[in-house]
Amino acid sequence: MSAAPGAGGLLANVLSEARDLLSCEHAMVVFPPDQDGVTTTVALGPDGELRRHEGTDVRAIDHVACDAPLLLPRGTRDPEARSRLAGLGLRDAVVVPPSASAGISGALVVGDRLGDVRTFNRDDVLLLETVANHAGVALRNDELIGRLRHDALHDALTGLPNRTHLQRGVTAALADVAAGRAPGAAVMILDLDEFKEVNDTLGHHQGDALLIEVGARLTAAVGRAGSVSRLGGDEFAVLLPATADEDHVFAVARALVQALRQPVPLDGLWVEIGASVGIALAPEHATETAALLKSADLAMYDAKSSTGGVRLYDPDLHATSTRRLTLVSELRAALHDGSVVVHVQPKAEPASGRVVGVEALVRWEHPERGWVPPDDFVPVAERSGLLGVLTSRVLDASLRACAHWRASGLDLGIAVNLSTRSLQDPTLVDEVAELLLRHDVPADRLTLEVTESSVMADPGRAVGMLHQLRGLGVRLSIDDFGTGYSSLAYLQRLPVQEVKIDRSFISALGRGADDVAIVRAIVDLGRHLGLDVVAEGVEDQATWELLTSMGCHLVQGWHLARAMPMQELPGWLAVHQPARGHDGLPV
Ligand code: C2E
Ligand code: CA
Ligand code: CA
Repeated sequence: MSAAPGAGGLLANVLSEARDLLSCEHAMVVFPPDQDGVTTTVALGPDGELRRHEGTDVRAIDHVACDAPLLLPRGTRDPEARSRLAGLGLRDAVVVPPSASAGISGALVVGDRLGDVRTFNRDDVLLLETVANHAGVALRNDELIGRLRHDALHDALTGLPNRTHLQRGVTAALADVAAGRAPGAAVMILDLDEFKEVNDTLGHHQGDALLIEVGARLTAAVGRAGSVSRLGGDEFAVLLPATADEDHVFAVARALVQALRQPVPLDGLWVEIGASVGIALAPEHATETAALLKSADLAMYDAKSSTGGVRLYDPDLHATSTRRLTLVSELRAALHDGSVVVHVQPKAEPASGRVVGVEALVRWEHPERGWVPPDDFVPVAERSGLLGVLTSRVLDASLRACAHWRASGLDLGIAVNLSTRSLQDPTLVDEVAELLLRHDVPADRLTLEVTESSVMADPGRAVGMLHQLRGLGVRLSIDDFGTGYSSLAYLQRLPVQEVKIDRSFISALGRGADDVAIVRAIVDLGRHLGLDVVAEGVEDQATWELLTSMGCHLVQGWHLARAMPMQELPGWLAVHQPARGHDGLPV
């Protein structure tokens, strides 16, 4: 009839209506054989319940096979009618074939007339056809309702159960645990690591294909142990409804990750996908649906932001994530109320001590915590979508200050740090161009500092972006040089004018010969490639002198000055800069 839930109840109604209207003892639907040759008869029992009979006797269908409704009256002489009645085991019958009853895929049969009327006649045939048609309409509605119900609980792309479906499943599993019918339950939330890249580079079509493949692999990997659902985007969940065996749960989680490790063919490429999995167990971690899912979610985020792979929920995660959330909302407010400000740290030529520029370093003055260092909140901004605003603030404040200093006769360059995310932000180039114009600062007074690792995070995109920025006339600098790939060949291909030797090498200069050799090599390399070399983190006179002797172009560090509020810079320069002649050298 129809696989839709509720169809059984509807069929019982149709059959009992037919039985009552036609005053007969039996009403049934005979379905044609399925692909295995099994025929099904669903008959209404005396109690009003449906009786289902399955058989492999394909001849059964012959008794009801017809194109138009059949009237098989009691005592008929027609040999074909007699054989049909014999086959059905009825004294008399009316049959409406599937073709005449839109919606029912079997033949509707009533038989064994009751009471005063001796047997069926033409009017009874019409009556049964009407019943069949009603049933067809009702069934289509019911199917529609069933389909809607199915759609409401399933994901259209992968056909997997959706979040609502999962929630119901978890609730049922938790009820079993609470009632002692199951020893425990586990929920895992799984998030793909590189989905966004696939979607962005290969397109949504390939992204969809990947999700379908992932759904199929997860379903196969979980097997009978549990059920897989898709929560949306690239997030999937697995419910293991009756387990208290942590080892088993971990084994399933590892099997999931393993199943995704095989590369997926997409658009002629073999794409590898990783996944992060968070696990929460009931009753240990939570006994309510929302709390259990939330715990698995936190564990997944933790897995994602640290080592990846599989992570079990830990109550400490809750505190961390609450702290992070407050931090996000406080940072959002701070970016708007002006408590995120820019400090500057001078850079000087080591031989003369002349300050030629500054680096802009962002600071957050938090009402309770005081000055929060950028290493504590820039990553928060990166993860919460606030980085664009942050970078805009710093660029705007830096160029405004630069213009202001120029107006008072101080021609200083300013360097602004860019994060990995900024290098992937397609609006950055236009924004930089617009701000240079607005503040009327020559492009070569602005240096943008990027790290090697942020370039390597997405070299294709980052290199394109660097070329566009360079096209504006902006200077580019490789920050923290020496800590990343430090590939000289690569450096030559990047449109950069400066390298900043990482602080860790500079502060070690006084101690080890190795570091002296590295720093000397970088300075020589810079000269060879025509790049300016900046040493940052210069904390004492000895280091300063060593760098001077090596021919390092610029130095920056506490020995010269710490970062200071922008408005203090002119005053600081007036006190600390040696008086100068017209050639810029100390007099
Ligand atoms: P960075 O670009 O390597 O910045 C240099 C860091 O070294 C600064 O820390 C600076 O205060 C510190 N420093 C300067 N001289 C010395 C010294 O002689 N000794 C020692 N021990 N440290 C010194 P800060 O300001 O905490 O910045 C940390 C990092 O935060 C920066 O590292 C940079 O990567 C990031 N950052 C700072 N401002 C911004 C910004 O506006 N946007 C972005 N995206 N990142 C920023
Ligand atoms: Ca920097
Ligand atoms: Ca640095």
